[in-house]
Amino acid sequence: MSDRTLLLAGNWKMNHDHLEAISSVQKLAWALEDAKLEEGSCEVVVIPPYTDIRSVQTLVQGDKLWLKYGAQDVSQHEPGAHTGEIAASFLSRLGCAYVVIGHSERRADNHETNEIVAAKIRAALSADLTPILCVGESLEQRQERTHIDFTLGQLEESLAGFGADELDGLVIAYEPVWAIGTGETATAADAAEMAAAIRARLVERYGDATAASTRILYGGSVKTDNVSEIVASADVDGALVGGASLSGPDFAALCKAAVAK
Ligand code: PEP
Repeated sequence: MSDRTLLLAGNWKMNHDHLEAISSVQKLAWALEDAKLEEGSCEVVVIPPYTDIRSVQTLVQGDKLWLKYGAQDVSQHEPGAHTGEIAASFLSRLGCAYVVIGHSERRADNHETNEIVAAKIRAALSADLTPILCVGESLEQRQERTHIDFTLGQLEESLAGFGADELDGLVIAYEPVWAIGTGETATAADAAEMAAAIRARLVERYGDATAASTRILYGGSVKTDNVSEIVASADVDGALVGGASLSGPDFAALCKAAVAK
C-alpha cells in the first residue's frame, strides 16, 4: 500500500458558468459531508473554466471547504503582451493548487506539442502550481500495440530538461484519447499496465524517490461504477474525471466509491 494520497480531480472542461460553478461546488461540498468523506481520506479537486475560478475561490475560502481547485491550462509566458493568455502567477494568486497541462483536447484543438507542454510545466512550477500532465495514446496506436512506447515518449518529451528535484509532487494523468468522453473505458488492467510502465520510466529517469512520490491518475469515462476497480491497482493513485464531475452529488458519490475501493 503506497502512502500517496488518492486524488480525484474533476475537469469541467468548457461547462458551467460562474453561477453554475458556485451551485455545483456547494452541492459537492454538501454531498461530501453527507457521504462522510473528510479531509485526509482523499484529495478532491475541481478544475473549472478560468472565468469561474474567482467565484470558486471565494466559496472555498469563505466556507473553509477542504476542496482544492485548479485550472485547465496555463500560458507558458510571463505576464506581458500575450493577448488571451493566462499567466501561472495569476492562477496562484487565485489560490489554484493544480493546473492541467497537455490535455488531449488542447493537444488536438490548439496544436500543443510536447515542447509547449514542457514550457507550460516550467511556468506552472515557477508559480508553485502542481501540474497534472496528461499523456495517452490514440485508438490507432493502441490497435497497433504502440501505445506504451507512444505514451512514454510523450512523457519523456514533456519532461525534457527537468531534474528530479523540480518534479517533486508531480501528477501524471494517463488518458487514452479513445476513452475520453466516449463511454469507452480502458480496463483496470490496461490502466494498471500503463501506470506501471510510467512509474518504471520515472524510476529510470529520476530515481526511486521521485517515482514513488508521483501520483499517476487514470482518465477516460471514469464513473461511480468503475472507479473503484480502476484505483485498486497499486500504481493508479486516482482519477481525472470529465463528464462525471459536472454534478456535485454524482462527483461526491464517485469520490466515495474510490475511497471505499
Ligand atoms: C477528461 O476530459 O479528462 C476526461 C477524462 O473526460 P471523461 O471523464 O468525460 O471521459
